Amino acid sequence: MALRTILTAPDPRLKKKSKPVDTVDAETRQLMDDMLDTMYAAPGIGLAAPQVGELKRVIVLDIDREDTKTGPLFMANPEIVEASDDDATYEEGCLSLPDHYSDVARPARVKVRYLDRDGVQKDLACEGLLATCVQHEIDHLDGILFVDHISALKRNMILRKLLKTRKEKERDEAEGKPAARDKDKESAPAL
Ligand SMILES: [Zn+2]
Repeated sequence: MALRTILTAPDPRLKKKSKPVDTVDAETRQLMDDMLDTMYAAPGIGLAAPQVGELKRVIVLDIDREDTKTGPLFMANPEIVEASDDDATYEEGCLSLPDHYSDVARPARVKVRYLDRDGVQKDLACEGLLATCVQHEIDHLDGILFVDHISALKRNMILRKLLKTRKEKERDEAEGKPAARDKDKESAPAL
């Protein structure tokens, strides 16, 4: 088990387009396993490779709620091949935009095609939170963050706050103060 560092916005690597993987080899599987461990530790329900600084089209998900239980899902080169006309709105969060949430509307149902951890091509019909999560993670592979779906005003406010939080954290670390992040706060799941 190896935990990777999760990049937070604004970071130029989160705005880059990731490259497809040629094959799901041992290196890809290692990345998938590390990403899953990192996601569980965060904790989150989805993570994309660029969030740990790897510009590869790899995502991991695990949705565990009363209405949806997926178990761990590993996807290389995921692609939306079908999307419903009607939208659903969820309050989204993101491990790369800690402690910020916003309503985002996306197609309510999608079909995703991907290579699994064994390199086998699969199609998966997704709805509810799973549909939102899959689309959110695939967005990461194209350098798109959930804040890119909301108004510029709100986006800039969130990015400014993140920058301020980062500067405060760096200052506290320089002064040897312990981290003051509120882990007990009730919040929507981070993707
Ligand atoms: Zn995210």
